[in-house]
Formats: sequence, structure tokens, C-alpha cells
Amino acid sequence: MLGDEKSVVLSFDDGPAPVTALEDILGTLQRHEIRAEFYVLGSEVKQYPEAARMIVRQGHDIQNHSWGHPNLATETEQNVRWELEQTQDIIHATTGATPTKIRPPYGAGGFRGNIDPELLAVADDLSLTIVTWDIDTEDWKAPRGLGPEKIRNIETQFTQQQRKVSFNVLMHVQQATARDLPSFIAQLKEWGFTIAEP
Ligand SMILES: [Zn+2]
Repeated sequence: MLGDEKSVVLSFDDGPAPVTALEDILGTLQRHEIRAEFYVLGSEVKQYPEAARMIVRQGHDIQNHSWGHPNLATETEQNVRWELEQTQDIIHATTGATPTKIRPPYGAGGFRGNIDPELLAVADDLSLTIVTWDIDTEDWKAPRGLGPEKIRNIETQFTQQQRKVSFNVLMHVQQATARDLPSFIAQLKEWGFTIAEP
């Protein structure tokens, strides 16, 4: 089977808002006893502190996704520093957790072989590892969520990376993803994947 002796980590970007979608996602993860990672925006943590705390309270990893979702690869080092530092600070002040990873918006400047030097310098200063993803669910594309055509595309991505044994699966905090998450988890299990902790 596609997922035999292979594992996935589930990750969710652009939270903690919308809060209703987040609550749905957290409920599904809790029912399946899955620990996931959330790459949050500092600006949204500021606006929805309780939602950010909910992520941490339920045992998930909270990580840095910048303050305002700019393309960090085209920002000055000073702006990159501001984006990442402010986000580290608000996450720590709000939840007590300190992020150890940065996933740059759009993956810009974060892919191996194409790492943005300013981003790398700032990430190093803040002890952040730059990460991207292995599987892009494209849950943000119309029709949003994880419907049949997305599942086919995801299956193809797994097939194209046959020698890989662990995969980070990118999703977003949004209502359609929250709606489709239970069936997506069932699909991953049907393919034979183990759902691993981040
Ligand atoms: Zn994003």
C-alpha cells in the first residue's frame, strides 16, 4: 500500500483564526488522538489570544508563520527580523511556548537549494529551523477543502516521492478543511500511513 511503513505529520497554516474552523480541527484531532503542528500568524495571535492558547493546551506544537504573511524572500533583513521576532514574542507572551520552526509564507525563500540568505540569518539568530512541506494538499484552492480531486492530487504527490518515509502534510485553518478533515484522516489510514507526532 501507498503508506506502508511510512508516516505523516499533519500541519496547519494561517491560524489561529478563523476560530470556529480551528475549534473544529482541534476537536477532530482530539478524537483521533493526533498531535499536529500549527504555523500561526503573529497578528492573529494578538487578535485571538485564547485561540492560540487552545492550540497549546491541547498538546499541539505552535510555530512561527510570520506576523502578517508577507513574501519574506523579497523583504529586507530588517523587515524579516521584525516579522519573525514580533511573532516569537507574541506567541511566547500569549501561550508560554517558544516556537522552534519557521515556515515562511508561500514557502518563499524556504526550499532547500533556494534558501533566502536574510531569512536564514534571522532564523539562525532566533534559533528557528526553516521548514516547508512535502505534500501540498492545496486545500486553499477552489473548491476549498480536501475533496476527491484534491485527494487524487495528494495521492500523486505521495507516489512521486516513493523513497521518502515521512511526510509533512500542509493544510490551512479554514472551514472547508475542518469539514473534510475526518474523511481525510480516514483516507490516510486507508492508504496505510501512520500519523506521527511532529
Ligand atoms: Zn500561509
